[in-house]
Amino acid sequence: MTIVMKFGGTSVADGEKMKTAAALVSDTAEKDDVVVVTSAMAGITDLLLDTAKNVCSMKERDIVKFVDKIKKRHLDAASIAVVKNIDKITSAIERRSAELTETLMNMMDTGLTDQFGDRVASFGEKFSSAILCGAISDLRHSDWHHGDNDLIVVDTDFINPEPDMAATKENVGKRIVPQIKKGIIPVITGYMGCTHDGQTTTLGRGSSDLISSIVGACLDAEEIQIWTDVDGILTADPKVVPDSKLIPSISFSEAGELAYFGAKVLHPKTLLPAVKNEIPVRILNTQNPSSTGTVIFREAERTPEVVKAVTSKKGVTMLDIVSTKMLAAHGFLAKVFEIFGRHGISIDMVSTTEVSVSLTIDSRVNGRMKPVMKELRQISDVRMVRDKALVCVVGDGMRMVPGTAGRIFSCLGRHGINVECISQGASEVNISSVVDERYADEAVRVLHDEFFPEAK
Ligand code: ADP
Ligand code: ASP
Ligand code: MG
Repeated sequence: MTIVMKFGGTSVADGEKMKTAAALVSDTAEKDDVVVVTSAMAGITDLLLDTAKNVCSMKERDIVKFVDKIKKRHLDAASIAVVKNIDKITSAIERRSAELTETLMNMMDTGLTDQFGDRVASFGEKFSSAILCGAISDLRHSDWHHGDNDLIVVDTDFINPEPDMAATKENVGKRIVPQIKKGIIPVITGYMGCTHDGQTTTLGRGSSDLISSIVGACLDAEEIQIWTDVDGILTADPKVVPDSKLIPSISFSEAGELAYFGAKVLHPKTLLPAVKNEIPVRILNTQNPSSTGTVIFREAERTPEVVKAVTSKKGVTMLDIVSTKMLAAHGFLAKVFEIFGRHGISIDMVSTTEVSVSLTIDSRVNGRMKPVMKELRQISDVRMVRDKALVCVVGDGMRMVPGTAGRIFSCLGRHGINVECISQGASEVNISSVVDERYADEAVRVLHDEFFPEAK
């Protein structure tokens, strides 16, 4: 069996944690072929992105100081995690640090572009993969992917890159499969890819999950394991609802909705490659490996609960589009969607009445909305409201049980939370309500109490 094991930032946050991760890999490699995907050490990507943003106002000595700090954190981790190959890993860290300094120095003149930002951000995974590989090598034969950034091939859209699965599969076939055949455990850098013309890019924050699923699909793996800092997918984010409980199994469609609507435990696009190849994805806790975690597959085990989980997505902008022309007219909605589609803005939620349509978009694309608003104003009155959140109740069982929307509406109303819009997608797996962003956590808590009263 081939298993892909992905370790998130908190699972490789320091030398001890890297040792734990390496031991887990070694245990699994007892009976299965293992391919490892790693994130950067927790907090490193944030530091790199912040520095890239401010590089134009930095002096050379600030850059040297910054790189020294990054280097020290990785050398410290390596000194704990790696024994036998410490010299090799130390020199890899030194080499990477010199490359990072050079990249940042070059950026002082050119300034920040999406392309440069991605190149700097990708260093986190380059460092961590070397150390994790060193730690695994103490226990088993391992090798990190020396080409680093050119394994996963993506298109040139730096904001929303799409993987080229055929080109990536070819690379995986040429470079990863032979290593597995020789009994080597490859360690692949998460987060990054490269365009067809060889430029480094990243696949978005938290996208090492997605990389593991791309690699899993290319290898036709038996399981993709996402090792993180919680026992699995819980009925709500434990940072918001501390008594949320573990969901042992969940369907691809339910998990996809949760990931898309804010459950950070999984990058929203992770499941696409896995679904196509019907590969189960398991979420596991590095600090509590004996827990069986959550398995995500085509069919989830039926449970008496109608609702599986509650989540929220903050940073949402709502648009109210009103047109009397819409009254009994066909083609109005099609025109609205065509405008969004042409400008490459994706709509998260839609709710319509006879004369109006309310929809939500991710606030991060607000900067690209000006031409969209101009065109919408030609056919309607549009109101744009920021600082909203989508609160989502997810569960396959809602298909069979009527009345869930009513329960959500009255629960939020009873707690004085105004619902501006409610929508149930065609799949009926998710009911989303738009609320003011400042009430998002409270809304998740009261809905969790409503649907999981025993967890209180
Ligand atoms: P990693 O660094 O391993 O990629 P992340 O921080 O990206 O980890 O994701 C794990 C976090 O996801 C958890 O610490 C938890 O706070 C958050 N989270 C949000 N929603 C959920 C949920 N429904 N179930 C479990 N964790 C969740
Ligand atoms: N290191 C990247 C981030 O922090 C990618 C990842 O961890 O998945 O977003
Ligand atoms: Mg993550």
